Amino acid sequence: MCGVLGIRAPERDVARLAYFGLFALQHRGQESAGIAVSDDGHLTALRDMGLVTQVFSEDKLRGLQGDAAIAHCRYSTTGGVHWQNAQPLVQHGTARTVALGHNGNLLNTAELRGELHGRGVKLRTTSDTEVIAALVANDERPLDEAVAATMARLEGAYTIVLLAEGKLVGFRDPEGIRPLSIGSLDGDPVLVSETCALDLLGADFVRDVEPGELVVVDEDGLRSAQGVPAHDGGSLCIFEFIYFGRPDSKLRGVELHGARVRMGEQLAGEAPVEADLVLPIPDSGTPAAIGFARASGIPFNEGLIKNRYVGRTFIQPDQALREHGIKTKFNPLAEVAGKRVVVVDDSIVRGSTTRQIVAMLFEEGATEVHVRVSSPPIVSPCYYGIDMATEAELIASGRSVEEVRAAIGATSLAYLSLDGLQAATRRPEDAFCRACLTRRYPTPVPLRLEKNRFEPAATR
Ligand code: SF4
Repeated sequence: MCGVLGIRAPERDVARLAYFGLFALQHRGQESAGIAVSDDGHLTALRDMGLVTQVFSEDKLRGLQGDAAIAHCRYSTTGGVHWQNAQPLVQHGTARTVALGHNGNLLNTAELRGELHGRGVKLRTTSDTEVIAALVANDERPLDEAVAATMARLEGAYTIVLLAEGKLVGFRDPEGIRPLSIGSLDGDPVLVSETCALDLLGADFVRDVEPGELVVVDEDGLRSAQGVPAHDGGSLCIFEFIYFGRPDSKLRGVELHGARVRMGEQLAGEAPVEADLVLPIPDSGTPAAIGFARASGIPFNEGLIKNRYVGRTFIQPDQALREHGIKTKFNPLAEVAGKRVVVVDDSIVRGSTTRQIVAMLFEEGATEVHVRVSSPPIVSPCYYGIDMATEAELIASGRSVEEVRAAIGATSLAYLSLDGLQAATRRPEDAFCRACLTRRYPTPVPLRLEKNRFEPAATR
């Protein structure tokens, strides 16, 4: 998962706007952040490991002057977690220089890397993003045609923002698996992964970039073309609705917080339970827990307090502290003692966190711990930009609900049905990818993909 943003606004401080927009997209990736600006066609990029606020300072932003900018925050799916793979990437080619930011995951990277090597194009990184940049940078046709020709060669999920020749370009794969919306800042076009970034910038939502669509922004404004044919209205990732998208974002016109509350309400109807308290697993389980409590009449209680400062680079505790493992992240309130509690989360992937939370609540004195999950069981891996797990690591793959319940140690366990989930989105099922829940992928997928498959063995 990653966040991308693009803006063309010659009269404004585009790097500062990109910085604040990126701030709103930080939940989509915390490993690295970067901004590239185009000044009269000349490209400058600054990217580094860390959060947006760690990478940029006032001085650094002042050094990024231009009439257009793209920005990116990264959560890796292909390629390792190191500086070379931070984005936006800048690629010099025989036809042009491009700066590019990517959200998604390509499925034919190996084939395209081989082809580029054969043409003598040097690749410096291990990410699939460089392949896309290299194809555009080394295509002698006009920019729009070079981008459309590149789209036709790519397989998998890609939402891209790109700067080249003084133009801002945005495009999505034919399934539209990852989101991209167009906004207007008093007439200046803005492209964002999620509408919450438009709200922060004070920009108005215009529309979503359609699956397979290519938009180009230059001094004549924004124009659009169908870069590659779309597949039946597309296959937006349903996990953008369940978990990834920020609750205040709108996807396909639906506010995600409301959709998640409806998932909880639906779940309470499908899997009722007698209990004293409904607790969310914060923060992602909170809207569904509100819905569950509202529909069941069982009081909602915060119950679990989350430490919000535990990042992905968290230093592992020593053995003595590890005994308390999960308490670095969550701590229960004493009022669960003697109560029958319902714990609501948005999904269970490997199950280890859920198992630890259940054990912790029993230790705190809860008499029953009922787990309710506001999505169906995840049974198959994602190949489209979500670093979930292999099939063997997914707790629900090959196990019945009762077997998963026993593995996490809960009093009872129930998942939201696929139909219930779909109803909560208020959008038709053929508009979504639901492959990790159904094993029906919208594109052909390889038998096995490893995240670090292009890394030298020593760095894996
Ligand atoms: Fe989203 Fe699952 Fe499809 Fe991946 S496989 S894009 S996580 S719905």
